[in-house]
Amino acid sequence: MMNRMSRTTCTVFILSLFATAFASAQQPWIDNELPQLVELYKELHQSPELSFQEKQTSARMASLLRDSGFKVTENIGGYGVAGVLVNGDGPVVLVRADTDALPVVENTGLSYASQVRAIEQDGHEVGVMHACGHDVHMTVWSGVAAFMAQNKDRWSGTLLFIAQPAEERGAGSAAMLADGLYQKTVTPDYALALHVTGTLPVGSVALCEGFALANVDSVNITVRGKGGHGSTPEVTHDPIMLAARIIVGLQTIVSREISPFDPAVVTVGSIHGGSKHNIISDRVDLQLTVRSYKSAVRNKVLAAIERCAVGEARAAGFPEDLLPIVELLDEHTPAAYNDPEFTKRMASAMKSMLGESRVHEAPPVMGGEDFGRFGPAADCPSSIFWLGVSNKEMYQESILNGTALPNIHSDKFAPSPSGAIRTGVLAMTAAVLDLLPVK
Ligand code: ZN
Ligand code: ZN
Repeated sequence: MMNRMSRTTCTVFILSLFATAFASAQQPWIDNELPQLVELYKELHQSPELSFQEKQTSARMASLLRDSGFKVTENIGGYGVAGVLVNGDGPVVLVRADTDALPVVENTGLSYASQVRAIEQDGHEVGVMHACGHDVHMTVWSGVAAFMAQNKDRWSGTLLFIAQPAEERGAGSAAMLADGLYQKTVTPDYALALHVTGTLPVGSVALCEGFALANVDSVNITVRGKGGHGSTPEVTHDPIMLAARIIVGLQTIVSREISPFDPAVVTVGSIHGGSKHNIISDRVDLQLTVRSYKSAVRNKVLAAIERCAVGEARAAGFPEDLLPIVELLDEHTPAAYNDPEFTKRMASAMKSMLGESRVHEAPPVMGGEDFGRFGPAADCPSSIFWLGVSNKEMYQESILNGTALPNIHSDKFAPSPSGAIRTGVLAMTAAVLDLLPVK
């Protein structure tokens, strides 16, 4: 017994030494490559492109993958890029970065702040900023691709690296898949991605098991009415009064019709109607965002929105030809479900690379991310994790003061690049190598 114990202990010791030696190979690599990666980050940060306009960015991603030795296919579902690197037997691992930026005028005051302006789809000129940190995602992704390509003796299998456009519109992954992404390349056995967060300091990552991000739906309600003079409401059908009743009624859907154990949100984010004090208008436009996790809950909430809008109009005595028009927009983002077993495995690989104290559990959020399509489309487990990007000192100060730091989509969002890129590359390479062991 004693003998066997010591032999086991010895084997574990040797294995852990082997693992450490293996893992630590990434540390000198990233230390050496970090200055170039930070330069790449600043270049991407200064040349952001809006959703559906990522022409230069996708060409840059394609050339980086080619430089690393990947076989690259461009223009998949628009400006989508996919690179494949085959390196012997083993599973296929998908790693995805998103490439688009937001219509935001940067207000960080950084020396490398974006000065870019572009024309939005509606024809307006807007400032453009990587306010969602997709420039960090692309930089980490290209670093991981380069490390894997330069260290082929450390793994066996196939890599599928995806640079996905139009994430902010919830459209890019659907477009790539509809254009035959997996048929044109390979079908993954695992799918991985990361997203930056300003709620964690650099050096740390966080993973969420199960539903991590929500179904996102956009709904337009056109509240129709019969206009007239403000002094004679009795001969009109007032759409502003009806819109007010609809908005209040909608708030009972989640509170009265959905289980408290099933998260859901109905927000009316925009209301426009009327022109003057004494005119009853004939139209009000409402714009809603609807969030949920389970498909059944999503379907129930969306059906209830239509029922409430139409029901309120009937209750207010509106004729059948003036009932509200409820339109579900074609920009659905599905919930991102992190396969729990897969996510546990990824967390443990990251812990052995970064240390236990830097790998956290993340709560689910009701934000959206269209990465959630890649796993189900291949019937494989997928997981997206959070990468901390906040300056450590500022983060500590914000905890003490209780004031939140600017987070994604803010014009002041300013990731701390070198620490974030370093940790992102270490965490993602640890995860990918764990899935592609040398046989
Ligand atoms: Zn975003
Ligand atoms: Zn994003």
